[in-house]
Amino acid sequence: MEKIVSLAKRKGFIYPGSSIYGGLAGFWDYGPMGVELKRNIENLWWEIFVLNTPNIYGLDSAIIMNSKVWQASGHAQGFSDPMVACKECNKRFRADHLEEDKCPECGGTLGEASQFNMMFETKVGATQSEDSKTYLRPETAQGIFVNFKNILDSYSPKLPFGIAQIGKAFRNEISARDFLFRAREFSQMEIEYFVEEKNWEKEFDKWLEYMRLWIKELGLKNVKEVNVEGDDLAHYSKKTVDFEYEFPFGQSELYGLAYRTDYDLKKHSEESGIDLLYRPDEGEPFIPHVIEPSFGVDRTILALLLEHYNENEERGIWLSLPYKLAPVKVAIFPLLKNKKELVSKAQSVYEDLKKVIPGVAWDDHGNVGKRYRRQDEIGTPFCVTIDFDTLEGEGAPKDTVTVRNRDTMEQERVAIKDLSQYLRDKIGT
Ligand code: ATP
Repeated sequence: MEKIVSLAKRKGFIYPGSSIYGGLAGFWDYGPMGVELKRNIENLWWEIFVLNTPNIYGLDSAIIMNSKVWQASGHAQGFSDPMVACKECNKRFRADHLEEDKCPECGGTLGEASQFNMMFETKVGATQSEDSKTYLRPETAQGIFVNFKNILDSYSPKLPFGIAQIGKAFRNEISARDFLFRAREFSQMEIEYFVEEKNWEKEFDKWLEYMRLWIKELGLKNVKEVNVEGDDLAHYSKKTVDFEYEFPFGQSELYGLAYRTDYDLKKHSEESGIDLLYRPDEGEPFIPHVIEPSFGVDRTILALLLEHYNENEERGIWLSLPYKLAPVKVAIFPLLKNKKELVSKAQSVYEDLKKVIPGVAWDDHGNVGKRYRRQDEIGTPFCVTIDFDTLEGEGAPKDTVTVRNRDTMEQERVAIKDLSQYLRDKIGT
């Protein structure tokens, strides 16, 4: 894990938040490589689950909502974790995460457990009264439920249909830890999929399968499905399956799939007094039931970095990220940076590729070996070198370049005229 944290910082994937002021626990900043990786994950998710799945409607709702939303959803009263404080060092811990009844930091005696609400409070507007109090959303799901009627009114969708959203969520975790795993600000990708009650099991199984395919697409091998039971099951859920990843600190939740019944829509309908009924072509209006696949973006990034981190003496570090997700997909090298003809030929290859492939980089620092190492560390699948044969065609045909593959380390000579198609076929763009 330390290796991942250090690579992420060194190569500009993830920096500790507010670092020049000593940081702020649970907050992370995505650097140039991290932001590309994050966007690629979100774009792929959107492409698969919104653009290419029938009957899914996209949404981007406000992070701050009327506090009544959180009263109705139950978060204002019950979105809490049990907390204990050490009587000696005053540090606070999640009671349900402790293995012993002593302080894990100093061995001191712990006080009584109390419930700690994890929502961040804020005030809206200039009047600082109780009425202006609300919260940063702790999940994106409620923004979807409060827009259910809007989508019905705009599109009259037929069941089953879903509403999808990607966005930030905030939880004042008692102890933020394990890098991106337990952050206080993070992103979620969620779908509320509305179904008829009688079909919930069939739809649940369909989403189990979709989630498995997504995990396969990411190349994550260490994922286990766990049926959540007993006290761990949320009060609104009749069935939940957690997808747990084998993290270095233990097997823990990566994603969840929950059957939330009609709990949320019913509560919002009762509290708002607004009719949230679905009207079928035949039969009585009813409140649909909900299947919720929930994906954490930051936990996805952590799992991807862990799964695809490779290191050996000969090569150093390389990230074998899926091609589609790599922040840089192709790096262009002029063999020597002080030879004008090489540089201008390489520049024209670079400009042409940039028009058709997202994530093309220019690299002319150091020798080619060092450039390979640098690109390997950020997971660049293809490196293209423009050399003297490209110009003169002696050792290899003129107007061809060397393409080096990150995973096989094989080098192929490819004609410049075929290069963009060759790379697009490999990357799948
Ligand atoms: P945990 O039991 O680990 O606290 P949770 O059951 O509270 O997680 P959910 O409420 O199901 O999590 O949230 C849905 C998804 O959001 C999770 O599967 C996870 O990917 C992500 N997530 C939740 N809490 C955090 C966090 N503190 N930091 C990063 N991602 C998170």
